[in-house]
Amino acid sequence: MAGYRRQLYRDDAVVLRVQKLGESDRIITLLTRRHGRIRAVARGVRRTTSRFGARLEPFGHVDLQLAGDPKGNQGSSLHTVSQVEGIDLYGKRFLGDYPRYTAASAIAETAERLTPVEREPSLRLFQLTLGALKALARGEHATTLVLDAYLLRGMTLAGWAPALVACAVCGTPGRHRAFSVPAGGAVCPDCRPPGAAHPAPATIDLMSALTSGDWVVADATDSGVRRECSGLVAAHLQWHLERALRSLPLVDRGAPVAGAVTSPGGAGPGVVPPRVGPTAAVVFREKTE
Ligand SMILES: [Zn+2]
Repeated sequence: MAGYRRQLYRDDAVVLRVQKLGESDRIITLLTRRHGRIRAVARGVRRTTSRFGARLEPFGHVDLQLAGDPKGNQGSSLHTVSQVEGIDLYGKRFLGDYPRYTAASAIAETAERLTPVEREPSLRLFQLTLGALKALARGEHATTLVLDAYLLRGMTLAGWAPALVACAVCGTPGRHRAFSVPAGGAVCPDCRPPGAAHPAPATIDLMSALTSGDWVVADATDSGVRRECSGLVAAHLQWHLERALRSLPLVDRGAPVAGAVTSPGGAGPGVVPPRVGPTAAVVFREKTE
């Protein structure tokens, strides 16, 4: 190929996604530590004799040697995996554990969506993603808390974290009772738009605790508060993403609690029922109107 030299380079990465390619190959989407998100072809990995196959499963932390131009090249976005060693293959531990598997799927999908441009390094997102998968594997905190902490911190890195300790509109400090996704988070009584949700104060506290990593507060919350938090986090995330996440509605959050989220304002975008498919559709429709 004229003007294009394939270089070998090493990096460690989280496997975000694996797709079939032809008879025996796979395309692996990787979030690397130093080179951002890349897609690479792994040749022959679907053969039973492949040394790579088992190491290139979703959610694994792997050390790779890749061939391609690490700086990027217009004509060739796909790199080739030439070596891979497993550092910690978290995916194995999530097999047969549906809640953790779906949470890991939502983390991987979010990581991909937060890196729309390939080969744009983001060390903090890499560390956040790896840390979240590690925390899921350890099982020290509830699965949904680990996921929501990841989503909140990912939104912080992206620059659109919900306002929690000051009004999203006027900036008045304080713990405000109303929450509006279109307004950008918690809102004071003066700025509260019609249809804002009124979550329990403990729910806003949980969102703050997850954002700052205060696990003592987060671990002590009850399931109703956690569900309300998940609903607000999901709605806020999906408001800012162009398309809804496919994996988020699959996350097992237990049975909904009737009346856990109430909205005196009716069907505004701040109305956030527990995380289910139609939620995103409602939020999206309202965004485009
Ligand atoms: Zn205000």
